Amino acid sequence: MEKLKVDQSTCIGCGLCVSLNDEYFEFNDEGLSIPKKENVDEKDKKELLNIVDSCPVGAIVIEDEKEA
Ligand code: SF4
Repeated sequence: MEKLKVDQSTCIGCGLCVSLNDEYFEFNDEGLSIPKKENVDEKDKKELLNIVDSCPVGAIVIEDEKEA
């Protein structure tokens, strides 16, 4: 299962990811982006990879996480 992560120390809260996809991203109390949904559905992966590329500071990553 692949997991969506946002590096809180890198995100500048520009809002791009949230405006592009509010199913996977939302703002925390500090106005930074956090994953609203961590598990990446295969059908959404291409779109999410585009958002990863669009983040101006490269704060978003999709990590492959082995099932425990
Ligand atoms: S696009 Fe990047 S910098 Fe902008 S809110 Fe999303 S994670 Fe943060």
